[in-house]
Amino acid sequence: MTMKSFRCLLFLTVLSSGLLPGYGQVPEIMTVRGPLPAEQMGRSLIHEHLLVDFIGAAEITDSRWDRKEVVQQVLPYVEALPEMAIRTLVSCTPAYLGRDPELLRELSKRTGVHILTNTGYYGAVDNKFLPAHAFSSTAETLAAIWTDEWENGIGETGIKPGFIKIGVNSGPLSDLHRKLIAAAGITHKRTGLTIASHTGPFLPAKQQVDLLKASGVHPTAFIWVHAQNEPLLENYSLLAQEGAWISLDGIQPSNLEDYLKRLVYLKEEGWLQQVLISHDAGWYRPGEPDGGEFRDFSTIGTQFVPLLLQNGFSEEEIDLLLVKNPARAFAIEKRLLTGE
Ligand SMILES: [Zn+2]
Repeated sequence: MTMKSFRCLLFLTVLSSGLLPGYGQVPEIMTVRGPLPAEQMGRSLIHEHLLVDFIGAAEITDSRWDRKEVVQQVLPYVEALPEMAIRTLVSCTPAYLGRDPELLRELSKRTGVHILTNTGYYGAVDNKFLPAHAFSSTAETLAAIWTDEWENGIGETGIKPGFIKIGVNSGPLSDLHRKLIAAAGITHKRTGLTIASHTGPFLPAKQQVDLLKASGVHPTAFIWVHAQNEPLLENYSLLAQEGAWISLDGIQPSNLEDYLKRLVYLKEEGWLQQVLISHDAGWYRPGEPDGGEFRDFSTIGTQFVPLLLQNGFSEEEIDLLLVKNPARAFAIEKRLLTGE
C-alpha cells in the first residue's frame, strides 16, 4: 500500500469511528431528559437558575425544599419560555448550591423546554460551597467523581450533566482553585463536556485558559462566565483570540446599555461567533416565603433583542448569539490541542 492510500484509509477509519467531530457524527448536547442533536437546541438561555440555596455546603440537604412546591412556584416562568420562542434553558446551579436534577426533569417534562444541568464544584465566594472532600482530594479524584456522573448519571437519578460548572474567586487563582480547573480539564478530556467557570475578571480567566492549554485542552472548551465583570474590553480580544467563549450573562432592564456597548465592541472586533448572552435570572430560594422573589427570563426577548436590532445588529447576528453559538458551545466534543 502506498503512503497516500494508507493516509486515506486512516482518514476513513477516523471518519467511521466518529473520532473527528463534525464529520460523520452529529454533535449532541445532553439534557436532563437525554441526548439531543445540538441543532435542535433552538433559541437558548445559557446561564439561568431555577433554584439556588446559598446556605452553604456544610448545611445544605435536599430536604431544605419541597420539590412539588418548587415545581408549582417555578413552572409559570418555564412555561413562559416557549411563548418567547426559547426552547432550551441551561441551569447553572452547581452541586451543593441546590442542584436538583429531578426537579429540572419534572419542569422539562411538563413544559417541553430542554434543560441542561451540570457536574463540577463551585469554589467562588471563598469556598463556602465546596464539600469537605474537595479540600483534601486530588484533581484526579475530583475528575473521577465528575466523570462518574457523566457515565452513570447523577446519584440514582440516571440524569447526566450537560456541562462542567466550576467557580473561582475573582483574584489570582488559589492552589485550591487551580485544582478545580485541573479537575475540569481532566473531565473534559474524558467526556467532551464544556467547562463553564464562574470567574468574572480577566486575570483568573486567563490563568484558567493557560492551565487548560498546559494540560492539552483547547480554549474552545472554556466558557468565561460573568465576563461582563471585566472592565477592559480589550481583554475580551485576548481570550477570544485563544478560542474561549465570552459569556455576558447578567442582562437585566437596568444594564442594557452596558451590555450593548460590550456587544458592539465584540462585533466590531469580529468575535461575535464566540459570544454567549443570558440573564443569570430566577430563582426559587429555599427558606423564603413561596421561594422569595423570582426574576423572570423575559428581558433578552422583550428588551435586549429589540435594542440590538435598533443598533445595527442583524437578525442573523441575533440568531448567532441565541441559537448557533449555544449549540456550538454546549456540543459534547473533546476539544484538544493538536498532538494530544
Ligand atoms: Zn449564575
